[in-house]
Amino acid sequence: MKILLRKVTKSPSDFEILSEDITFKGYLEYHSPKLTRLHAKLQGDVAKPCDICAEDMSVSVDEEVEFFISDGIYQQDDTPLEFDVVESFDENADIDALMQSEVEMIKSDYHTCENCKDKDEFEF
Ligand SMILES: [Zn+2]
Repeated sequence: MKILLRKVTKSPSDFEILSEDITFKGYLEYHSPKLTRLHAKLQGDVAKPCDICAEDMSVSVDEEVEFFISDGIYQQDDTPLEFDVVESFDENADIDALMQSEVEMIKSDYHTCENCKDKDEFEF
């Protein structure tokens, strides 16, 4: 699902996508000529191997995601922004790709399965 950034106005453009066991639901909103604000909720289960024993496990996710999407290269001015900026080079907000990168971020975090949790506490 792609949303053309310049079509996003102050009245929020809603989106909702479901991929495997995860929903990514939220809206895009006009912020400034070059920036669109994304606000979404990522909910569901992310499957990944345990970081200790490599058994398959799932991480349950329920988090707010908020950032700006820049239409082209983002040139920082003097106003500090409250959220990170993701640059888009095809004039679109690629919601699937954005969701995928959020999921990858969760996968790259450190997670251990139930069996390893106890050992974990000893070692650290
Ligand atoms: Zn484990």
